[in-house]
Amino acid sequence: MRLLLVEDEQRLAETIARGLGLEGFVVVIASTGPDGLWRATEESFDVIVLDIMLPGMSGYQVLRALRARDVRTPVLMLTAKDGDHEEVDALDMGADDYLTKPFSFIVLIARLRALLRRNAPQQHPILSAGDLRLDPARRTVHRGDVELTLTPREFGLLEYLLRNKGTVLTKLEILRNVWDAHYDGPENVVEVYVGYLRRKIDTPFGCASIETRRGVGYLLADEDRPANRLGSRTTNLAPP
Ligand code: CA
Repeated sequence: MRLLLVEDEQRLAETIARGLGLEGFVVVIASTGPDGLWRATEESFDVIVLDIMLPGMSGYQVLRALRARDVRTPVLMLTAKDGDHEEVDALDMGADDYLTKPFSFIVLIARLRALLRRNAPQQHPILSAGDLRLDPARRTVHRGDVELTLTPREFGLLEYLLRNKGTVLTKLEILRNVWDAHYDGPENVVEVYVGYLRRKIDTPFGCASIETRRGVGYLLADEDRPANRLGSRTTNLAPP
């Protein structure tokens, strides 16, 4: 169970990390808002514990940016004061739960366990194409029996391709749906990430599920409907 702890108070962070480690969590600590956002976007976590008062960006800003980027990792926010206002804010902003400082470690563990249980429902059906399977609830990807490790961005890209399998998607559509609407980085980021994805989901297995449509975009082949391929083969093999 990987947990990202975004907390700038070093002693508190280390104490929490040590305790969570004993409970079986693998804890990564980020001590500023931007570092937390970067790690939450580029790495895979099962849950995020996010402080509100952070250097660089507030916990609220981090949370807003994460949800805008479609990172749906459950977030438990640590609110500094016990006012109804902050609690409502945390939940309104898309946090899944909150805990008011100071809190007991036992309560933190209980809340985290509840959050993880709640966020593994069967409401998100598994997406597949051939023997490639993506489970949005468990955040897992398999090629056959092999579990693949994707970063959240790679996962988001594959999820978007799978939801639209059999359809050619332009780079702009992919950018808008997988990156946030205000992304203004290099435009070839889609090509770069398609490359990363191919190296994980296709190349090692001798597959070519992501097709490039030159000048247009990309298409994830719908291997669940091999009718076209079988159809043409059948035609070829059919007696004259
Ligand atoms: Ca703080």
